[in-house]
Amino acid sequence: MKDTLRHAGKRKQLANVLVGKGIKDESVLSAIEKIPRHLFMDSGFEDHAYQDKAFPIAADQTISQPYTVAFQSELLQIKNGDKVLEIGTGSGYQTAVLCELGAKVYSIERQKELFKKTKLFLSKLGYRPKYLSFGDGYKGLKEHAPYDSIIVTAGAPYVPKPLLSQLKINGRLVIPVGEDVQIMTLFVRKSETQFEKREFGEFRFVPLLENKN
Ligand code: SAH
Repeated sequence: MKDTLRHAGKRKQLANVLVGKGIKDESVLSAIEKIPRHLFMDSGFEDHAYQDKAFPIAADQTISQPYTVAFQSELLQIKNGDKVLEIGTGSGYQTAVLCELGAKVYSIERQKELFKKTKLFLSKLGYRPKYLSFGDGYKGLKEHAPYDSIIVTAGAPYVPKPLLSQLKINGRLVIPVGEDVQIMTLFVRKSETQFEKREFGEFRFVPLLENKN
């Protein structure tokens, strides 16, 4: 595994592209400047790693587009030490961003192959999420709830109830909702029963699937 000055330079350029697209959060931008995204992709795709594009990873899944990762991360408004639940560990890139933002990260992946691969890879890279779970994200992770925020990184046909109920008061859920195209949606928990909802335009994700395999 190699990370070079050339890669660092490309990351700086990528961060500038994201600024151009409206990303403002300095801590999110510095996480993107720091994390060697090319190492999260198969070596054949290395040249594409610092373009603002999604790419295929193992098990028919994708590593999200950097802009999408930055946009969702910004919406979470993470503070140091926040407890954050991620649905869809995938390549682990978003997990690494959350770790860089100082979050205590819990992440769920439903594909066994990816789960095992990414768990090993993140630890090799020196990232220490609190807990990586092989399971079904529709159910959340009740054992460790409540969370300061929850991020869903696959397209959800509907908003799973357990995710809303596992938020702290003032906690934030960022979730792309829809079948073919998803609307990025933010829920802020105002009380036991009340949630404020805001929508932020269209994105495209691989689907959030029921059950694990
Ligand atoms: N955060 C990832 C994005 C990967 S794509 C990254 O940065 O690379 C979405 C991921 O969600 C895939 O790995 C897919 O297997 C996973 N996924 C889909 N449905 C799921 C579910 N119900 N529970 C947990 N993970 C799920």
